[in-house]
Amino acid sequence: MKTIGLLGGMSWESTELYYRLINEETKRVLGGLHSARIAMVSVDFQEIERLQHADNWGAAAQLLAQHARQVESAGADFLLICTNTMHRVADAVSASIGIPLLHIADATAAQIKAAGKRRVGLLGTRFTMEQDFYKGRLEQRGLRVLVPSTPDRDIVHRVIYEELCLGDVNPQSRAEYLRIIDALHQQGAEAVIAGCTEIGMLVQQAHTRVPLFDTTKIHARQAVVEALK
Ligand code: GLU
Repeated sequence: MKTIGLLGGMSWESTELYYRLINEETKRVLGGLHSARIAMVSVDFQEIERLQHADNWGAAAQLLAQHARQVESAGADFLLICTNTMHRVADAVSASIGIPLLHIADATAAQIKAAGKRRVGLLGTRFTMEQDFYKGRLEQRGLRVLVPSTPDRDIVHRVIYEELCLGDVNPQSRAEYLRIIDALHQQGAEAVIAGCTEIGMLVQQAHTRVPLFDTTKIHARQAVVEALK
């Protein structure tokens, strides 16, 4: 079994999910008392969030690269950055380490294509919904990506930083997310990507008939597939 490297803490609310999902999947596949080999470094999210909103991606990249090297030194065979948004600096992080990076958007695109979907809605932080590092990467892999209207993107973004990353799961926000998911579906999205690792805390498949692709689950399961190859 390979050792899975996790660069977490962005936010810790979703890193907790990664830890559980990876161990549950390892146990499901191997049985008995098996659990995953994991090397994790968890950052202080306040520092990262400040750099994101100051548009200082260079400093954020340096910080994550430094932490990624710690994960590598701890014995990881490959690395997961446990957030969609910080894949904004995935290339810089990848260039600073000697182990492969398992990219969250690639794992997600592969899963969506395997399910036979092409037109997908994307929910995430404003950075993820609007910038090319994520939406563009999905499009390069053959997907057609729809994002919510500007006011709805503001709602999705605000709920992530002001509620979900603080562990606050609010039914009113769930209703707003479900309304936005329906709107994307009506515009032609065959499925919607929960493209922020905390969204699964708020909206699950049981809440909607629109097929949902939860990036946290997809990324965590792909990590186990890689670890057991
Ligand atoms: N975890 C979130 C994501 O998947 C948002 C927090 C962050 O900005 O990293 O994008």
